[in-house]
Amino acid sequence: MLNLVLFGPPGAGKGTQSAFLVEEYDLVHLSTGDIFRSNIKGQTELGQLAQSYMNQGQLVPDGVTINMLEAEVDKHPNAKGFIFDGFPRTTAQAEALDVFLNGRQAPVSGMLALEVPEEELKTRLTLRAATSGRPDDADPGVVQKRIDVYNAETAPVAAYYKNQGKYHGIDGVGSLEEITVRLKSAIDSL
Ligand code: AMP
Repeated sequence: MLNLVLFGPPGAGKGTQSAFLVEEYDLVHLSTGDIFRSNIKGQTELGQLAQSYMNQGQLVPDGVTINMLEAEVDKHPNAKGFIFDGFPRTTAQAEALDVFLNGRQAPVSGMLALEVPEEELKTRLTLRAATSGRPDDADPGVVQKRIDVYNAETAPVAAYYKNQGKYHGIDGVGSLEEITVRLKSAIDSL
């Protein structure tokens, strides 16, 4: 099984690149942000809980997020593998994912970390706000908060995978095609 963690700060291109990789490797794409947004749209209890955190650029609590992610994985018993996009975002989530996937004899194959400078992220998110319809892209204060939360809580997850020899840094600046080529060459060497 090919289980990829696609990692990077907000605006790094995780969602865009996931769309290419899902096709190429026949994987199931699980974006925790997308799942939360669809719960908000459907006005579920989970959506109501997540919304207050998301609108402020904060992380949804680990317990809720981990339970949701595990339930989503279990909906795809015949998957060839998964792309985890936007998860894990804390070391506790990374540990929980290891326990869960190792228990299924399907460990994380590798982390692909898109590396993009902070100024470029802010430019991209401001541009994206025009089309994404996401309130958390439209407010510069919330964008900054998301980047700060990334640096404080999420960036340490890279070290977790480095310790396991599973970290692969990818230059996330360039054309979409160039970045896809870089990702594919990293995946093909896993
Ligand atoms: P994203 O679509 O990945 O940019 O995520 C949008 C928002 O959803 C984040 O700012 C968080 O509030 C929430 N979120 C998404 N994934 C996670 C996660 N793994 N842990 C906690 N909160 C998350």
